[in-house]
Amino acid sequence: MEIALVKTAAPKPKPDPATLGFGRVFTDHMFVWDYTQEKGWHDPRIVPYGPLELNPACAVFHYGQAVFEGMKAYRGPDGKILLFRPEQNMARLNRSNARMSIPQFDEELALRAIKELVSLERDWIPTAPGTALYIRPFIIATDNVLGVRPSNTYKFMVILSPVGAYYEEGLNPVSIYVEPHFVRSVRGGTGFAKAAGNYAGSLLAQRNAQAKGHAQVLWLDGIEQKYVEEVGAMNVFFNLGGELITPDLGDSILPGVTRDSILQLLRSWGIPTVERRLAVEEVFQAHDRGELVEAFGCGTAAVVSPIGRLEYRERIIEIGGGKIGALTQKLYHTLTGIQSGVLPDPFGWVVEVES
Ligand SMILES: *Cc1c(COP(=O)(O)O)cnc(C)c1O
Repeated sequence: MEIALVKTAAPKPKPDPATLGFGRVFTDHMFVWDYTQEKGWHDPRIVPYGPLELNPACAVFHYGQAVFEGMKAYRGPDGKILLFRPEQNMARLNRSNARMSIPQFDEELALRAIKELVSLERDWIPTAPGTALYIRPFIIATDNVLGVRPSNTYKFMVILSPVGAYYEEGLNPVSIYVEPHFVRSVRGGTGFAKAAGNYAGSLLAQRNAQAKGHAQVLWLDGIEQKYVEEVGAMNVFFNLGGELITPDLGDSILPGVTRDSILQLLRSWGIPTVERRLAVEEVFQAHDRGELVEAFGCGTAAVVSPIGRLEYRERIIEIGGGKIGALTQKLYHTLTGIQSGVLPDPFGWVVEVES
């Protein structure tokens, strides 16, 4: 299927790379693909970036039938445009769709559309270290009916945003609040899907944690509220006595591409690595024995985010004496190096976009 192209008549000036921040500036074009029951997914097209006109009864506004993805395009040292394991994001988006009763789409066509859009917007890819072109695919329900039922029509869109280095002052360990009351997801829920509503529900706990001086929350499981699950919208790893532990995936944890890549890297380095349930108590006990070596969150936006401090019910512990753990640092260096084409790619993760 051909992807139609309508170019903008009024390209925008490129932003100052020093003041990019995250997700505030958008490029000149976007991808749009429509779904109806009669035609399936049809009319894929790249058009000038701009507002949508939606009926106030539009389903997505009322019951939140919406999913999204997050990925990045990098400019390699030789000028090549690189994506990181993008087929994983397309597969996950379809898994999110399945959970949210949104029809499956052709992953190959979606990936081709993303490549064509990124190629068209290549001059928007920032080049400074730590910067990238963030790619946000998303799907919304568009029936104009207030009934609580799956929509019969959808829009699949992709927008692009040049983003600055996630850490303006470099990779600094942050303080994390172990959330004792609110939960992000539960067994049988939607936690494994990148469903828009999951994030709306997490904002209150995040805001409370920030008011207490923390950067993020550490989510515990929704049933016993004992086991660590994720940190903010990132997966989490703990180094306990030289063994790297991350919660095993169930339907309450988002299966991160960064998490999976880190597991593969650690295993290739011969580092003992386990995916299992990990009680927050066990983390605190390991700290008391002097065995909590390092901890970090991981995800596409930050890549890795070192945890320097944990607060849980009246207790505060420091991790790594305010410094970034050695493995955290090495993982950040290796992953960003592979993603931006400055290090070899032994796993075949990087996909080049023809420009
Ligand atoms: C997106 C996301 C992650 C990280 O996934 P990546 O594929 O590594 O970017 C982790 N947890 C949650 C809740 C997320 O939404």
